[in-house]
Amino acid sequence: MKITAIKAWKVDLPLREGRYSWSNDNFVEVFDSTVVSIETDEGIRGYAECCPLGASYLPAYANGVRTGLAEIAPKLLGYDPRDLGVVNRRMDQVLRGHAYVKAPIDIACWDILGKAAGLPVYQLLGGAEQDDIALYRAISQDTPEAMAASALRYHGEGYRKFQLKVGGESHTDIERIRVCRKALEPDSILVADANTGWTRHAAARVADAVGSLDIYIEQPCLRYEDCLSIRRRTARPFVLDEVIATPDDLLRAMADDAMDVINLKISKVGGLTKARLMRDLCVNSGVAMTIEDSWGGDIVTATIAHLARSTPADFCFSATDFNSYGTVSIAKGAPMRRDGAMTAPDQPGLGIEPDFDRLGQPVLSIAI
Ligand SMILES: [Mg+2]
Repeated sequence: MKITAIKAWKVDLPLREGRYSWSNDNFVEVFDSTVVSIETDEGIRGYAECCPLGASYLPAYANGVRTGLAEIAPKLLGYDPRDLGVVNRRMDQVLRGHAYVKAPIDIACWDILGKAAGLPVYQLLGGAEQDDIALYRAISQDTPEAMAASALRYHGEGYRKFQLKVGGESHTDIERIRVCRKALEPDSILVADANTGWTRHAAARVADAVGSLDIYIEQPCLRYEDCLSIRRRTARPFVLDEVIATPDDLLRAMADDAMDVINLKISKVGGLTKARLMRDLCVNSGVAMTIEDSWGGDIVTATIAHLARSTPADFCFSATDFNSYGTVSIAKGAPMRRDGAMTAPDQPGLGIEPDFDRLGQPVLSIAI
């Protein structure tokens, strides 16, 4: 089997809530997502999606996905998409870094491998370790009272895990955490995610002030060393996200006992092949994961569901149903949340079919 064409579509994903806000006054109202298809000489097509969270969150941005794809796609024609190791090494040879550009190629190749084998991707990734994947809901940064009301509303929809977007003024963040913790039942898990927004001294102040509350602290500072300093001062369970982008980052953090949980974002690490490696290292070493991505719609949600379903439940801290945040559906067959959980499709591959009427004309088309 050979890759004969690689195409990409740009699609806007407006938010149901209108706006998503996080640290440093960042916000997004319409996500710019890229859908990728890989065509083969045997008629099987694979699909994937990549959607950075704006341009200021990670070293990734929406136009960068498409520019990077234009760079690497011509160099992948003729390769067998089922040879995931070969394809990944080829991508690393022809473009240094830019893992998020390679992610949709890798994921579309997994979709093809699944379709060729007649097996769902979760089975290729290890098999169904769980059927109901618990989801978290990100609570956009707002006043303490508005965030508590939002969390309670999503509690009513079945969520039991909440990620509070803090990382603002430390005194307001202490209030955000206290008010939300008080409003929610003890069965709810609360993560205070600063998204790198605190200085070391502000993070130390917040961690100390909420030190008696049942909460997790996530990615307080920009630098790994600052996060590690805070980690060593607090007894709260600790989550790393932005600073864990490669297997080497993960190995160093494990050696430093730098966290209890990581957020494994599939496009940030370069796709399912590298995410699986990091997932397996985490399971081996007792580190739990939120399995997710930077953002996305139906196809990203399906990809998350396959990796999460094949991850032992004890190590799958939570996952994300991004397709419930937006107002636009871009694929049929995607997981749909039920009572705060989702599952991965049982169809071969990712089990989704893009809605090409919605996507319109491709913005990139590279063919043999
Ligand atoms: Mg985070």
